[in-house]
Amino acid sequence: MARTVFLFGRWTLQPDREPDAEPITYVMECVVCGEHSAVEEDFGEAQRWTFRHAGRHPSHHTYREVITRPWRAWMAGPPPVR
Ligand SMILES: [Zn+2]
Repeated sequence: MARTVFLFGRWTLQPDREPDAEPITYVMECVVCGEHSAVEEDFGEAQRWTFRHAGRHPSHHTYREVITRPWRAWMAGPPPVR
């Protein structure tokens, strides 16, 4: 958890794990050609895309994982008194 203080209050920032949070999603990208998997909530699906892609392009050995993680920020209290 990250916290910071501004003149107008203390803010806290945390990964959003509320039931209504957006899902964490995964995309695998081929660094060689730029093709990528669909946006998947199941990392296994993104991995399976990588194996299919490598099977079709045996010289493409390098991949990049892109994770999208929802966060929430809220004001946790007043600013400190000076
Ligand atoms: Zn590729």
